[in-house]
Amino acid sequence: MDYQHNFKKKFGQNFLNDENILNKIIKESEIPDDTLVIEIGPGAGALTNKLKEVAKNVLAYEIDLDLQNILIDKFKDTNVTFIWEDFLNRNIKEDIKEYKYSHIFVVANIPYYITTPIVEKIINSGVDVEKVVIMVQKEVGDRFSAKPGNKDYGSISVFLNYYYNIKELFIVSKNCFTPRPNVDSVILSLEKRTDRPQVQDEKVLFKLIKDSFRFKRKNLRNNLKEYDLVKVEEILKKYNKDLTARAETLDLEIFVDIANNI
Ligand code: SAM
Repeated sequence: MDYQHNFKKKFGQNFLNDENILNKIIKESEIPDDTLVIEIGPGAGALTNKLKEVAKNVLAYEIDLDLQNILIDKFKDTNVTFIWEDFLNRNIKEDIKEYKYSHIFVVANIPYYITTPIVEKIINSGVDVEKVVIMVQKEVGDRFSAKPGNKDYGSISVFLNYYYNIKELFIVSKNCFTPRPNVDSVILSLEKRTDRPQVQDEKVLFKLIKDSFRFKRKNLRNNLKEYDLVKVEEILKKYNKDLTARAETLDLEIFVDIANNI
């Protein structure tokens, strides 16, 4: 480590210290030429330093002003720009409006305490982010990328699958961080879907997904009491299912079909 820093737990600060992992993130991100890369939480700049070599520009959001001592000097006269603020409070569309690029990627080792808010912020930003490559806690990664029938499959898996094709790229041991966290991590790739299903009203779909998973052990008949169950069952039949099925066995396509027809 070539810097001095008091690590702050409240900002989820676990900095990557493994050169091989950093190189692997860059390689597997497959960042095309002419890409604007957004990074959330550059920390001491280990990943930023690699990103700047492959990106046209890097825009990095960092909440901890103490890191200015390390970062400003290190990235002087480069293609990296910092915004010293809480990522969740920014208008990303405004922040990137001066940039010229052909692709936008998010590549980041994000602070885990706000994993879901960060992903939701990206989805709702109105910015056409092609791919999100993020490090998350292994357990969270398993939930995000779970497929129907898997024990980790839940409303967040279906919700994210509406927007992205999600893959776990590789696991990162807790030993690769300073300070060392309690859990292992995983690098996730969320690639924007070009074949997103047609949905009449997203609000209806998202509510249906939430309601269906409300009580994990209950079946659809119990979780969807306020719905027109005759209609729901009619749709389920097309997929060889009935109201005794649990939400964890349904894929996105079925939820979309129900939401579009109730
Ligand atoms: N990218 C660095 C690395 O891989 O070594 C640091 C990763 S560390 C897990 C998360 C970083 O996010 C920290 O630098 C932390 O200060 C920053 N951070 C935490 N909350 C943030 C927020 N709301 N907005 C922007 N940055 C944040």
